[in-house]
Amino acid sequence: MDCACVVINPFRLCSALRVLGSFMVLLFLAIVALSYYAVVVVAWGPRLFHSFPLPLLASSIIVIFHLLLALLIWSYFMVVFRDPGAVPANWRPFLDEESPERTASAMLADFVAPETRASASSSLEGLERRPNINYCARCQNGKPPRCHHCSVCQRCVLKMDHHCVWVVNCVGAHNYKFFLLFLLYTFLETVLDTFVLLPSFINFFGDARRHSSSPGNLAVTFLAFVLNLAFALSLLCFVVMHTSLVLSNTTTIEVYEKKKAVAWKYDIGKRKNFEQVFGAKKLFWFLPLFSAEDLEKIPALQGLDFPTRSDVEP
Ligand SMILES: [Zn+2]
Ligand SMILES: [Zn+2]
Repeated sequence: MDCACVVINPFRLCSALRVLGSFMVLLFLAIVALSYYAVVVVAWGPRLFHSFPLPLLASSIIVIFHLLLALLIWSYFMVVFRDPGAVPANWRPFLDEESPERTASAMLADFVAPETRASASSSLEGLERRPNINYCARCQNGKPPRCHHCSVCQRCVLKMDHHCVWVVNCVGAHNYKFFLLFLLYTFLETVLDTFVLLPSFINFFGDARRHSSSPGNLAVTFLAFVLNLAFALSLLCFVVMHTSLVLSNTTTIEVYEKKKAVAWKYDIGKRKNFEQVFGAKKLFWFLPLFSAEDLEKIPALQGLDFPTRSDVEP
């Protein structure tokens, strides 16, 4: 189960974006509450008590609505609270003198073992001298491959994708999967809401004229339909874009770099690229969790070490 690398990441205190970020969380919760009221309370809840077969359709819609809602809220808070991935103190890259049999997880254990801290620290000077090893002057630490310094979080983030205002957090190696699931489930929920609110929206002007519904319910239905339609259309673009990025093993930050490259060194085949984000266990693919086995066996999920194509120059 989701036992390794559980690091709570409280809301950032480091920039003015924090205020905007907290506002975005409230806005997200307000849109969820509005949609819930429009779909369950106003539109489909009362139809549970109509004559057959309407209750069958209404109960199916309400069950699917709650299922998607639970999954999207779970994914959302996993992105918000999960640390995207910090560079271990005194991080050093895989050095030539180390045994080639050592695995990435063994290296990771070294980073946190107190007895190795001293030797790791002494190697930092050497690390700065090595021309092909990235170093972050602001964090005063080495930079693993695909790691970037986030100016909002004011620290380096492993396999950084982007800083997301909606989740008040960076999206990186440890929470990218949760971000993608949040996108997917929110997209599906907004598409469902748009379709099930469409009959109410079509009847909106007739109901307003006949005063057959309260002005408050009419306003909520109208607003929920328009918002869900707008989000469904814009999320569709993000879902398509991130599907293409996952299958080609590229982060949002790396898109420009990839365009310049003849062949992308991290692209090791669609299935393997997918597993580097979602893990190999199918049971966990659609849940915001990782199996302990995946975390151990897939170094990319730790964010420090990534397999590359043998036919592409590093
Ligand atoms: Zn940094
Ligand atoms: Zn950030």
